[in-house]
Amino acid sequence: MINSTPVPSSLALRRDVLLANLSTLNVGGIASWFTQVHDLQQLKEARNWANKQGLPIFYLGEGSNVLFSDEGFPGLVLQNRITGMEHYGEEVELGGGENLEEAIRRLNQLSLSGMERLYGIPGTVAGALVGNAGAYGQQIGDLVVGISIWSKNREQVLPALDLEFRYRSSLFQRRRDWFILSCRLRLKKSTEPLQEISEEILSRRLLKYPAELKCAGSFFKNISLDEISKTALEKIPEDFIMFGKIPAGTLLEAVGAKGVRRGDAQFADYHGNLILNLGQATSLDILTLANEYAGLVWERFRIRLKPEILIADHEDWPNLQNLRGVDE
Ligand SMILES: Cc1cc2nc3c(=O)[nH]c(=O)nc-3n(C[C@H](O)[C@H](O)[C@H](O)COP(=O)(O)OP(=O)(O)OC[C@H]3O[C@@H](n4cnc5c(N)ncnc54)[C@H](O)[C@@H]3O)c2cc1C
Repeated sequence: MINSTPVPSSLALRRDVLLANLSTLNVGGIASWFTQVHDLQQLKEARNWANKQGLPIFYLGEGSNVLFSDEGFPGLVLQNRITGMEHYGEEVELGGGENLEEAIRRLNQLSLSGMERLYGIPGTVAGALVGNAGAYGQQIGDLVVGISIWSKNREQVLPALDLEFRYRSSLFQRRRDWFILSCRLRLKKSTEPLQEISEEILSRRLLKYPAELKCAGSFFKNISLDEISKTALEKIPEDFIMFGKIPAGTLLEAVGAKGVRRGDAQFADYHGNLILNLGQATSLDILTLANEYAGLVWERFRIRLKPEILIADHEDWPNLQNLRGVDE
């Protein structure tokens, strides 16, 4: 029951908001409360208000890497809209709520190279930092000098070395109480036609991800060879290995995932690691499918696939042993 702490007037709080409309997978029930924050002051007010109500908070970018629960979220979803960009020679300071593609377009205009191959990845700069987003040989974590966060009621700047950037992961995935305000990136002045490179990559991406697709990009992470046991590696045909990794899509394809459908969730018939919402998929449809095929990969290859997307609240959901990484 919500008590009557007054809502700060600067916050446009909305009640009972459908999470499906806030995620590219188009799945999820009702969030009790939703707001967007455009500056630090609004962030503080929203957090204080939610804390006084005893409500949990979920930080959201553009929802392109999350699977919300059909049960919704009994708290405040706080969407980051803190934007801004300044550059100092080859370094740039970017608001976490900047749209990644927009930011890259402006960096390309400034002839600053380092992110041009990430063009077309949906979402915000902060969302990209959380998952260390990457594509075509670039990943954002490699460029980070430092990140400004809001935690425990104060702003702190954390250096890149403390943030554990690895392939599609960062410390932020464990520190879910940290809100990313902005980041400082180091790029390189370039004479290459950066926007042309970006556009070329975008046209390749659109073949894989046509605009109308309801998905969250790759569902599982690819597997680095140093993550798996020698016995598991022996079961892997040589042609499964690409650039020092085993693509999750290749393992899923080998166990017959392509095109398989549960409810309205389906593995794309052209890509083993892409789960699509065909229209009315529930989170349960998606998790049932993902869990079943992660299980088949485990049985055949003794490799545990790990979700690349954030499965919100999955601790409460039953029967997901293959997605939780439990070996027995
Ligand atoms: C069609 C498609 C293609 C994709 N291709 C790629 C690809 O090539 N490479 C790749 O790496 N990814 C890809 N993705 C995944 C996704 O686009 C990226 O992970 C993206 O960076 C997520 O950004 P977002 O703002 O949408 O984050 P969200 O999905 O909103 O959030 C992701 C995570 O970040 C957290 N978060 C968001 N904002 C903040 C904040 N301010 N402070 C703290 N935590 C925060 C959320 O709580 C959540 O845990 C793709 C997705 C789609 C739909």
